[in-house]
Formats: sequence, structure tokens, C-alpha cells
Amino acid sequence: MFTKASPTRPFLIAGPCSAETEDQVMAVARGLAPVGIDLFRAGVWKPRTRPGAFEGNGAVALPWLRRVKQETGLKTTIEVANANQVYEALKFGIDVLWIGARTTVNPFSVQEIADALKGVDIPVLIKNPVNPDLELWIGAIERIRNAGITQVGAIHRGFSSYAKSSFRNAPYWEMPIELRRRMPDLPLICDNSHICGNRVDLAEIAQQALDLNYDGLMTEVHCTPDEAWSDAKQQITPERYAELLQGLHVRQTTVDDAEYQEHLKHLRHKIDEIDLELLNLLGRRMRIAQTIGRYKQRNNIAILQSERWNEILEHAFNEGRSRNLSDTFVEKFFTAMHQESIAQQHEVVRAAEELKGTA
Ligand code: PEP
Ligand code: MN
Repeated sequence: MFTKASPTRPFLIAGPCSAETEDQVMAVARGLAPVGIDLFRAGVWKPRTRPGAFEGNGAVALPWLRRVKQETGLKTTIEVANANQVYEALKFGIDVLWIGARTTVNPFSVQEIADALKGVDIPVLIKNPVNPDLELWIGAIERIRNAGITQVGAIHRGFSSYAKSSFRNAPYWEMPIELRRRMPDLPLICDNSHICGNRVDLAEIAQQALDLNYDGLMTEVHCTPDEAWSDAKQQITPERYAELLQGLHVRQTTVDDAEYQEHLKHLRHKIDEIDLELLNLLGRRMRIAQTIGRYKQRNNIAILQSERWNEILEHAFNEGRSRNLSDTFVEKFFTAMHQESIAQQHEVVRAAEELKGTA
């Protein structure tokens, strides 16, 4: 259900953050129907961070979505956070359910939804948890699948963090990439609205997702975004949404072109050779670190020498910059290498002390 509609078009979910009034819902749906989306979204029960904000109209809004389907033919999806909301959604013929980021974090809530879904095979989308915990995301997917739901997809909406950033929710692309590696057949959709939290970056994030071969996009659309009752800053009009889609490039996984295949094979072979060289070098580096560890142990010297580590890192930043490697990458790579080096030195010291103890 959630896979690309054609090689040139992603699976498209769009609609307002919240179902505010019947007129507002119908206006957005009428604006989106000609654009050719696959699923109309609207929040009926809204999980708000602080009390006092608009918390959704609740079940009152469900007939409005039924009307959307009757009058525009668009299938509909809403967020559900507990068993009662599941029953209400099913009663009103909602086509797809989604589990929000604040619910995915809670295994009790996800299990309650899974139990309420036993015996009903409605497609379910599961947003990533608010915190960057891949196991929690996968756990929620498993709970829903274990309930017998066959059409499950994941929505990447970014992760909250204390650090200030230009994103509302930092994407941490490595997380969905790892999800893909672990669950290759799971459809993956990017909620560019909740990642960005603004209108200007929506297209860029959508394109990044398509470049990573995501199956679809979920975007918040409102006829008068500035007046929206929730998430006003990130919503766009149906016209802007259509323009955004026009500007996107949908990539293919591969092409049936012998020359392309041959060239790619050649380049990949080079990469494999370099990777092997890197591993050989890392192995050599670790063996030297072990020797240093034994030496330190004999001289009763602490393993971590902060000054030396600072020196290594500074040097690596400088050398890295002249090779077009970002400081962020150099820091991550060297930190991982340094941690492994320390772990191996710890092991050497532990083994030597153990030997001394038994001698
Ligand atoms: C939403 O889609 O409007 C929403 C509340 O999203 P999230 O669960 O990603 O915060
Ligand atoms: Mn929203």
C-alpha cells in the first residue's frame, strides 16, 4: 500500500496538522484532490506538549473525514494513541491509522493499540519515537505486526533534542538508514513537516529523503497556514505543495544500462579495495596500541592521556580539512577509533594483571 505509485512518483500523504472545522477539512481536501495524493491526513486527537493548546476535536471530526472520502474519493488517515481511538476510527471507516511519535515511545500504549487491532487488517504507519532509539521504533513495528497487521510502514519525523538546531526535530538520517538495513521490505515515509518545523526547508528535506530511496512523503497542508490552530509555521497551501512536488526528483534504484552497470562495478571495486586497506591499517594501528598498553601497564601509567588525545584530534581536523572531510565526520571517526583503542588497551592491561595475580 505505501510503496511508490510509479517509478516517478512517491507515495503521497498530505493534509492539515489538525482537523479544525468541517469547512477547513473539506477545503484542504478539495485543494489536494487534483494534486493526486494517495492519502489524506488530519489530526483528530492532538498530543500537545503543553496544556492549553488546541487538542483536537476528537470523534466529532470523524464524520468530516468520511465526507472527504465520499466527496473527493481520497482515502484518509488519522493518528491513534489508545484503544478507544482505534475503535472510533474503525467505526467511521478511516482507511489507515498512524501511531504518533509520543505514542511509539510507550510500549504499553503501542501494545494497547495492537490488542485493539487484533482481527482487523487495517494498514498502520508507525512514526519514530521522539527519542533516537531504534529498538523502540522496531519494537513498536513488531508489536503491530504481531497483532496480525500485514501492511505496516514507518514514518521518519525526526527526533527531539535539547540542543538548538535549525530543525524542529533533528533527522539523524543514520537511524532510518539502519532501520532500512534491518527491515529492507518495510515502506519508509518521510514526514518533512515535523522534521523542519518551518516552510523553507520542506523541499530540501523531501529531496534528501527521495535521494535515500524513501517510498513516500507525509506533508502538512492547510489553506490558510498562518491561521492554523496547530503547527502553523510548517504548513503550506495546496498550491505550494503542488509546486514542491513538481521540483522533486524521484531517483531510481537502478537502470538497465550495461555501461552504467560496468562503470558502477568498477568504482565499487575500488571502494572495496580501499575499505580493505582501511581495515588493514586499523588492524595495524590497534596492534601498536596494544603494545603501548603493555608498556603503560609495566610502567603503571594510566591508559587515557587527554593531552595526547587532543593533539591527535587537532591534527586530524587540520589534515581532514585539506582532504575535504568535515570536522563532524573526523570527530566521529576518530572517537570510534580511539574508543576501540582504549578498549583494546584495557583488555591488555587486564590480561597482564590477571597473569601477575596468578603468578
Ligand atoms: C502530527 O503528525 O501532527 C503529529 C502530532 O506528529 P508527531 O507524532 O510526529 O509529533
Ligand atoms: Mn503537526
